[in-house]
Amino acid sequence: MSGAMSAPRILIVEDEPAIGQLLVYNLEAEGYLVEHEERGDDAQIRLAESTPDLLILDWMLPGVSGIELCRRLRAREETRSLPVIMLTARGEESERVRGLSVGADDYVVKPFSVPELMARVRALLRRARPERIAGRLQHGDLELDRETRRVRRAGRDIHLGPTEFRLLEYLMEKPGRVFSRSQLLDSVWGMAAEIDERTVDVHVGRLRRAITRGREQDPIRTVRGSGYSFDETFGKA
Ligand code: CA
Repeated sequence: MSGAMSAPRILIVEDEPAIGQLLVYNLEAEGYLVEHEERGDDAQIRLAESTPDLLILDWMLPGVSGIELCRRLRAREETRSLPVIMLTARGEESERVRGLSVGADDYVVKPFSVPELMARVRALLRRARPERIAGRLQHGDLELDRETRRVRRAGRDIHLGPTEFRLLEYLMEKPGRVFSRSQLLDSVWGMAAEIDERTVDVHVGRLRRAITRGREQDPIRTVRGSGYSFDETFGKA
């Protein structure tokens, strides 16, 4: 991964172990560097030492509450523009206005959908650090535009189904990194997917046929016994 931009750092402050673990697992699977605190006061100490790229903050916390922590962060120069997603339990929704008034950027009600939260994280990071998560991925003559959902190779439009699109996007984000079939199922299909791992092979096959014509180089590598990766030498030869 030499030369690659470092992954965004995300701090989770959540005192419910099951939710904390769910967030850590899913954010790490997306390639983020993840830290986790269970208490508001511990989080405040950590935030005084270094500022992450994004904060996921539970509302009700031991030590210092999420809302109070958010207010304090907004009062400090170093954390004034830190992107914050606030989590809250159902029934606390009436407090939403207060959450946004102390400066949270976004707001998610528990129980939340993991893919939706991941999408909010990406959107907020993209807004805050546009250079970190580019709207457009390009390797060699292959381009993928996340905003318009268009894929082009050597100037021609390529029509992909939604699964092939997400698969290509996921692989292109981390060229050279090898993903197992089960990692791809978790990340591209979603954790709840109870799908045979051979399904991944079927979709990779479809993706290859769609993006590679004639004698063009195949950008996707099959790594025997391991899985698939986007060839980091693609377009550089
Ligand atoms: Ca809580």
